[in-house]
Amino acid sequence: MLLYLHIPFCHRICPYCSFYKHTPGSTPIGKFVGALGEEALQRKGNLPLSSNPTSIYLGGGTPSMLSSKHLSALFASLHNAFDITEATEITLEANPATFDLKKARHFKSLGVTRVSLGIQSFTSHVLETLGREHSPEQASDSVKLLREAGIPSINIDLMFSIPGQSLADWEATLHTAISLKPDHISAYNLTYEEDTAFFDSLKNGTYSENEDHDADHYHLAEKLLTSAGFDHYETSNYAQPGHHSRHNQGYWQGSDYLGLGPSAVSTIGNIRQKNIPDTAAYIKQVNAIGNAIHETEELTSAQRRIELIALGLRTTKGIPIDLLVPESLERARVLASENLLRIGDTRLHLTALGRPLVDPIAAELI
Ligand code: SF4
Repeated sequence: MLLYLHIPFCHRICPYCSFYKHTPGSTPIGKFVGALGEEALQRKGNLPLSSNPTSIYLGGGTPSMLSSKHLSALFASLHNAFDITEATEITLEANPATFDLKKARHFKSLGVTRVSLGIQSFTSHVLETLGREHSPEQASDSVKLLREAGIPSINIDLMFSIPGQSLADWEATLHTAISLKPDHISAYNLTYEEDTAFFDSLKNGTYSENEDHDADHYHLAEKLLTSAGFDHYETSNYAQPGHHSRHNQGYWQGSDYLGLGPSAVSTIGNIRQKNIPDTAAYIKQVNAIGNAIHETEELTSAQRRIELIALGLRTTKGIPIDLLVPESLERARVLASENLLRIGDTRLHLTALGRPLVDPIAAELI
């Protein structure tokens, strides 16, 4: 089982972000952390005894904003609720300029094995467009601090196809990222999510999308990162040997996951549950009944199959052929004849030609 914890606090809100997040305002952070611990204990009590996490991911939001005291309390609650000795990967999402060397050492002492840094770009004007609060220099310094603190695995999140970002800007960002020698790089194509300021700008014509532009940025990332020794193991993810994200791989392969915190989603077997996306209501509900489940859905086998195809096709491992119904297998054979995917004895996966087209190909096969 994968364990996810959602920490919804951010210093400021980026105009492209659709995750549930907010500035801390007057939220009692100690009570929030207490509620997370209580939810962990109660939700674990409803799972089979052997359900302990094989990986843990603290996302958000900005988990690195939590004070060392609150992080210690949170990890103490996790140890209380679960046996986490089998959690071989513990990831904490962090933003540059939200921690110093002392705090990075504290992450390590808590058992964090991997820090995922939300850097997005090393170009000042692009960071400004994204509403990020750090400078390129602070981003580079953060990577160095994590190294100095002995964090075993460091990921850098980058983004491309940002308004005003040229191909030369993207190339410079990739070169800077590579020079910092991270263990993993996630390179995401910006998406315009509903209910964000960027989406409004897209709708009113201030911003526009361009598929050719997206493809040029994607191919440049693939070329530079694979030349630097990274394995391009998922559409947006690149890892040095031994640094592939175990948590994300589990998610892409359809493992069970338990999500704690406001807005967090869990899928255990065919039951999907979503927590209330409101921090104050979350604390209140957990304190009253021990969970903050807001929606429950029973997934059909067809829904599960479609999700596994859409997620699995993004990975170099691909998907088991038996996920495809006969008509989809026929379509897959046509796509294979166009060199967009390869069909093996038991699995199929996209070729280099097909990988940038993962979404339309997945739509063909589901
Ligand atoms: S820091 Fe991350 S989670 Fe917070 S608003 Fe920006 S992108 Fe969203």
